[in-house]
Amino acid sequence: MGSEQDTTLVHKDDAQLKQKKMIADHFSRLGRSAESGEKNAYTFVPGNLTELLLSFDLLPVLPEINALQAGMRGKSKEYIATAEKLGHSEDVCTYVKCDLGMMKSGNIGPTGEPMPDPSVLLLSYTGCFTFLKWFEILKQEYNCPVTLLHVPYQGDGVITDSMRDYVVEQLKNTVIPTLEKVSGQRYDEDRLKELLARSAQAEDDMVWVLESAKHRPSPIDAYFGGVYYLGPIFTAFRGTQDAVDYYRCLRAEIEQRLARGQGPVTPEGQIDHERFRLVVEGPPNWTHFREFWKMFADEGAVVVASTYTKVGGVYDNGFRHDPSRPLETLAEYCMGCYTNLNLPTRVEMLSRYVREYHADGLLINSIKSCNSFSAGQLMILREVENRTGRPGGFVESDLVDPRYFSGANIRNRLESYFQMIEQKRIGRTA
Ligand code: SF4
Repeated sequence: MGSEQDTTLVHKDDAQLKQKKMIADHFSRLGRSAESGEKNAYTFVPGNLTELLLSFDLLPVLPEINALQAGMRGKSKEYIATAEKLGHSEDVCTYVKCDLGMMKSGNIGPTGEPMPDPSVLLLSYTGCFTFLKWFEILKQEYNCPVTLLHVPYQGDGVITDSMRDYVVEQLKNTVIPTLEKVSGQRYDEDRLKELLARSAQAEDDMVWVLESAKHRPSPIDAYFGGVYYLGPIFTAFRGTQDAVDYYRCLRAEIEQRLARGQGPVTPEGQIDHERFRLVVEGPPNWTHFREFWKMFADEGAVVVASTYTKVGGVYDNGFRHDPSRPLETLAEYCMGCYTNLNLPTRVEMLSRYVREYHADGLLINSIKSCNSFSAGQLMILREVENRTGRPGGFVESDLVDPRYFSGANIRNRLESYFQMIEQKRIGRTA
């Protein structure tokens, strides 16, 4: 580990500062929307229809992002306690409880500004049943319209024409008419196409950044760093010029790091000696994010690919939003999100990552309250081990409930896992 003070950081600061400003401006627009009259849609990250919402001038609000931000800012504990006092069980997804607790505590958003009530609840249902239940609860709290886009699960690992048609029909007959009513604006397909064209540009640069981790040393951490890189494209900015500019700037920064042979920058400094290359499955823990990342950085462990950075869209398989087929491309996007993929597809994807990113193994961070990710993870681990011959590791934590983060336990398990990787290396070279 080392610290650096060269021009690379200037570029990094540019991208970071830009993202910070984009987020601050967005929350401040939301905070002022009672006076400005701007309307919004509460919706979820997987299968989000950001370009469609922006084509109606609706501001996206993403409850999972508010929850994870609350976790990072030390607020989730009290929000979860509030929700549990209201009767929500310990086993419920902690994003849901955190969101409900925030709402019951005055609905102050992560930047300290008030969150507006939803103008509409838009549920693109992609893979996780909790999304349905979450909006059922919000529907009871807010007197606003609800629209559901049912996204068929990729049970057989493919998207068929009839699945695509089914989603497009719903967009035409249910979602768009509701958004027209809520926004008071007519559907404008040309505007949607412009937004989708900008999405594709940003997606190209974003994929380049993620795939830079195939180099040795990797110039990025594709899990802890990756969640920052994915922020704009997974949240309110896909389709905007801001997102295009952000990814152009980020790419330029990573190109420089690559040319100089530099490792990733972590909160503790740059990783100068890459000792382990990992693929990680599962969401990170947010309440102890920095401590968790440090456990990897201290050991020179770099995450070169992760599935969590695919929950808001899988783009490294070649998918790009296609402005020439606006509704079809939105349908394909929704069906292709990681949460909508069956277990064999996830195993195939993870095995490919281990091979293509020359990883030492697959590590799973199993999340106590996220059934959508955790179901089948042990099977996934064994299967990826069998296919790649690389050892698997397993740690457990939670999204935003600090009661389920045991630092000592996780550190012990990681140390054992790194030792196992080293022993296997010796075995391979002996
Ligand atoms: S995917 Fe996991 S974290 Fe997200 S809503 Fe479903 S259970 Fe909660």
